[in-house]
Amino acid sequence: MSNLHVDTLVVGGGIAGMQAALDLADQGYQVALVEKEASIGGKMIALSKVFPTLDCCSCITTPKMSAVAHHENITLLTYCEVDSIHENGGGFTARVTKKPRYVDEGACTGCRQCEYACPIDLPSAFDMNLGAVRAIRVPFSTAVPQKAFLDIENCILCGKCEKVCPVDCIDFTQEAQLFEIEAKAIVLATGFALTPTDAKQEYGAGRLRNVVDALTVERLLAPTGPYGHVLRPSDGKEPESIAYVQCAGSRDKTLGVEYCSRICCMYAIKQAMLLSGALPLADITIYYMDIRTFGKGYEQFYQNARAMGIEFVKGKVAKIHQDEAQNPVVRVELIDDGSRVVERQHDLVVLSVGMLPGFDPQPVYRIGTASEDGFVNIPEPNLAPCRTDRPGIFVTGAAAGPMDIVDSIVMAGAAAAETAAYLHSQTAPVRHERELVHA
Ligand SMILES: Cc1cc2nc3c(=O)[nH]c(=O)nc-3n(C[C@H](O)[C@H](O)[C@H](O)COP(=O)(O)OP(=O)(O)OC[C@H]3O[C@@H](n4cnc5c(N)ncnc54)[C@H](O)[C@@H]3O)c2cc1C
Repeated sequence: MSNLHVDTLVVGGGIAGMQAALDLADQGYQVALVEKEASIGGKMIALSKVFPTLDCCSCITTPKMSAVAHHENITLLTYCEVDSIHENGGGFTARVTKKPRYVDEGACTGCRQCEYACPIDLPSAFDMNLGAVRAIRVPFSTAVPQKAFLDIENCILCGKCEKVCPVDCIDFTQEAQLFEIEAKAIVLATGFALTPTDAKQEYGAGRLRNVVDALTVERLLAPTGPYGHVLRPSDGKEPESIAYVQCAGSRDKTLGVEYCSRICCMYAIKQAMLLSGALPLADITIYYMDIRTFGKGYEQFYQNARAMGIEFVKGKVAKIHQDEAQNPVVRVELIDDGSRVVERQHDLVVLSVGMLPGFDPQPVYRIGTASEDGFVNIPEPNLAPCRTDRPGIFVTGAAAGPMDIVDSIVMAGAAAAETAAYLHSQTAPVRHERELVHA
């Protein structure tokens, strides 16, 4: 791969990175967007519907993904990792590794003949291991780009994909390629990770099959999900009683996560509403310590959920175990009932896991150090919320801290504006003070 020269390098192709790239590209700046996965879209493309509007997530994300891929000022580089970034006088040099897809990306048409011919079934990480995928595949139905990649670790080299490929694009000899991107500015949009489901051992996730995390339920509810129905993992039964455990990974000193993840109350309420639609006879309970509905229209959303009959129980869940039929049993201290401790049995329990920093830029980039909570440090959060501690490096979306999609998009616009101003300041001729006063 040849080296690239651009105005801005955006690292991360979730909603925040895509929006920042589009906003800069629309202003005429040349942008390189680097995404480590085989498709852009980030976590958002895996969600079912979004609060508070309940828009279909795939329907509103896919056009953005497509706009990024087709924008004349954006060079999209998927399946690429930024190994290091160095200052180079006037800007930055990023060393990037393009991981081998074992497929000629230029030639692949995304016809999926290779995928249909592949004999290897693997658990689908995209569907939270509930469905299956082939060793060679297009990442998911609305992936951008629609290009196949081969999971070489699980390939048996049977050659069936090569035989059926109509454009001869399978290449088992492909190797990682190294190249450099020179950019005048950088936007970090590396997003977040989820609290591991088994982080709270006492909740039993991983051991108890019917205790799952909220992203699993997003896939169960998604029209493109693994079953097309909401079924519980242990026996494929439609759950009749579902419970949410809030703050399962946030506001928890024992996990070292003292902050509120800000999205969990809203996504639990959203999922509870969607489950009421999908399973009209099911009882849905949300065990919470505080309900935080901070955004526009969010409090009304919560009140609507109450009016729909979703049960909100102020209680602290101490432990989850299961009965003989693998039904999870929740031991909870009822805060509004004299701290009485009770055990309640459900068919399915969902842990409202929190947001963790997805990526520490410091060791790789030696820039933009992490703050105390592990997210990218923003020295002046009130005055310059997108600026890191290095001039020319900006941050946006959940890389900066827990935030929802609305805030990620707003912050992406702000990061693009800050970046454009910075780029302008690097190239504009110095203006006389009098001119500035009268401008
Ligand atoms: C269960 C659940 C339900 C949710 N429901 C809603 C909802 O209904 N409404 C709402 O507003 N919000 C919701 N959210 C929150 C929403 O997912 C986030 O606000 C949003 O995804 C943040 O976008 P982002 O681009 O900042 O991060 P991400 O979506 O995490 O994207 C970051 C991208 O950067 C890439 N990346 C990371 N590191 C690197 C690297 N070193 N090099 C290259 N690429 C890299 C990642 O692969 C990823 O594609 C939900 C979250 C969860 C967990």
